[in-house]
Amino acid sequence: MPALRPRAPLKLHTIALGCQMSAADGAEMSRPFYQRGFSAADSSDQADAILISTCTVRQHAEDRALSLIGALRPWKEAVPERILIVAGCAAERLGPWIRSRFPYVDLVVGAKSIEQFPALVSRALEERFDGLKENRDHFPASGEFSATNSPATAYVTIMRGCNYSCSYCVVPSVRGRELYRRPQEILGEVEMQVARGAREATLLGQTVNSYRSAAEERAIGFPELLRLLDAVPDLARLRFMSPHPYYVDEAFAAAMAECRTLCPFLHLPVQSGSNRLLKLMRRNYTRESYLERVKLLRNALPGIVFSTDIIVGLPSESEEDFRETLSLLEELSPASVYSFKYSPRQATEAASWADDVPQEVKEERLGRLNAAIEKLTVGALRSEIGKKVEVLCEQQDFGRTREGFKARWKNKLLAPGTLASLSVTSATTRTLLGEIQ
Ligand code: SAH
Ligand code: SF4
Repeated sequence: MPALRPRAPLKLHTIALGCQMSAADGAEMSRPFYQRGFSAADSSDQADAILISTCTVRQHAEDRALSLIGALRPWKEAVPERILIVAGCAAERLGPWIRSRFPYVDLVVGAKSIEQFPALVSRALEERFDGLKENRDHFPASGEFSATNSPATAYVTIMRGCNYSCSYCVVPSVRGRELYRRPQEILGEVEMQVARGAREATLLGQTVNSYRSAAEERAIGFPELLRLLDAVPDLARLRFMSPHPYYVDEAFAAAMAECRTLCPFLHLPVQSGSNRLLKLMRRNYTRESYLERVKLLRNALPGIVFSTDIIVGLPSESEEDFRETLSLLEELSPASVYSFKYSPRQATEAASWADDVPQEVKEERLGRLNAAIEKLTVGALRSEIGKKVEVLCEQQDFGRTREGFKARWKNKLLAPGTLASLSVTSATTRTLLGEIQ
């Protein structure tokens, strides 16, 4: 194919499907484009290149990715010099199949190959566009693709991969074993994000609190990393996800309590309240040890707000198992919960078990679970009414409290990144409403 002279400016549209990790990967993979002078396109129509960061954790996520690739065929065929790149977890799992099923895709790059991504993109761009020079010092301006929805917040990946082997989960097979970024590199990225205007950083990893520095470095663990980042001037809030309950200990709780930037909020995935299922899932904790850790955190940070993940309908889940999940939720009393219907994933241990909970039973349990969650969420939001809380403005009339509640106001327009005091007057089923003081 003849190389094209770049028309100025070339545009990239990045689409990240799935979790925060996929969004952070999408932002990282966009960088080599911006370093060559691309700017961000809001839609496919205006784009010269499209990058899709895919997810495969549940079948539904994978189906979305595949239908999106299919729908982009006319876009690619209209101007064959355009570049279509499919990257991430579904690309890792289905690479050869995607190449043969969608031959118009220019590049398929699996999640394990993200380190080689800049070199692969260089090659694809040089073949297609003449005279595109790389400027490695260029960091995306705030209008260019960011992993979060606001310039006030940033995601920072601190580790890749997962050393667990939860029986239902495809992540270890598509992302590989744990790899840790160096503490100084993480610190540098947080400082750079703050210099760009971010006031909040969310550290990302599959079991983020199993972090340890690479072998050749002075040994530091997750609590020490938190303390290192807590000292960054102008960083107002530090969050992280997802911590694994197994690594919640005294040192972790002490760091959470001592660091000024750490928020009294924790997303601590439990998956199930039944010890029998937790064992089948290979989660490495029991209902009792999970709740012990919750108690430790409540003692260290009075008023801490929790959220969690729950899977319903794992093979063999009985009504009694499910009730134990509901009763654990009562004890944990989280403010929000991500609820998932079990989805068999190829090559996982659970995929070899009979998927024996009938579809209608899964649906019925999910319905009961969601009703219980709604009550908890509404209760948590109501308990904030009448309080004065700190909000970090993400968009002019929207922000979040330190406890992670979404909040809206009408009496003022604030610049993203502003910290303000909000007097909470009411709440919808998901969001606090109030007035900026
Ligand atoms: N590493 C994180 C989870 C990453 S996947 C942790 O261990 O907490 C995000 C969530 O997707 C999981 O917490 C789980 O609730 C859900 N999930 C993972 N595999 C699933 C599957 N096969 N079916 C349904 N939900 C699943
Ligand atoms: Fe999957 Fe378990 Fe690893 Fe989380 S800890 S990514 S659920 S294997």
